Amino acid sequence: MKNNKLLKALSIVSVSVLSLGMFAGCGTSNSTSEVTSNEVDTNQEEVKDNNTNVKDDNVIIMGTNAEFEPFEYRENGMDIVGFDVEIAEKVAEKMGKELVIEDMAFDSLIMALNSDKIDFIAAGMTATDERRTQVDFSESYFHSKQMIIVKADDTSITTADDLVGKNVGVQLGTTGDLFVSATEGIASVAQFQTGTQAVMDLKNGKVDAVVIDAEPAKKMTEGQSDLKLLDAPFVEEEYAIAVKKGNDEVLQAINETLTDIQANGTYDEIYAKYFGTAE
Ligand code: GLN
Repeated sequence: MKNNKLLKALSIVSVSVLSLGMFAGCGTSNSTSEVTSNEVDTNQEEVKDNNTNVKDDNVIIMGTNAEFEPFEYRENGMDIVGFDVEIAEKVAEKMGKELVIEDMAFDSLIMALNSDKIDFIAAGMTATDERRTQVDFSESYFHSKQMIIVKADDTSITTADDLVGKNVGVQLGTTGDLFVSATEGIASVAQFQTGTQAVMDLKNGKVDAVVIDAEPAKKMTEGQSDLKLLDAPFVEEEYAIAVKKGNDEVLQAINETLTDIQANGTYDEIYAKYFGTAE
């Protein structure tokens, strides 16, 4: 992680597949999908200061999926907090606006952005080339990777290549979903609205593995003696904040904020708060 934050060289993000042979084709014909759509209320809105006017010029609306600790999650099931929220607060501050957070399914975020329901997406979202055709991304603000969670007693899966022939759980519409769904030979891909639901099915033995971003994976396995996190990252990614294409005003405020907080130590403070150590 050292010196990776906001790395200019990585601002044009390429998602590099480290495991050769894994994602050679798009053979999804043998995959089954199961979408669990309960729990996520796409219209749910967290309104700070009881401000319900989403078009109010004095507010800026962050869209997220608050199921992604430590980036965004509900503290004690209530307020949405996290690394991304703190960065978004700084963006709002820079713009002289109040931050409002809209919590929705991860795979609804880009649509919400492009229909002006939200002003930006801060959701541990990986800046992929495919998404770049739909939105504009800020500079990268976090380096991440995909990881695999399995049962603690599982000896059959030790690397990404071992997912072939297995039932794999993912979060719908995420990069983990994309890569697993494009992997030939996976027995089935179970797509869930949240990573937590995927991990529950892993615990219940309904899936053999869960592929998800590293930091949430660490949180989900913390203190869970029946689960283990494989030290076999296989896709490197960069998180960035998304705005509607052409929304240069908000994009500029985000990029300036990222530069400022990097320079004045705020980024390191927030980093230490959510990841334990300063970068
Ligand atoms: N980084 C992953 C993606 O962009 C997952 C993000 C998330 O689940 N919030 O697809």
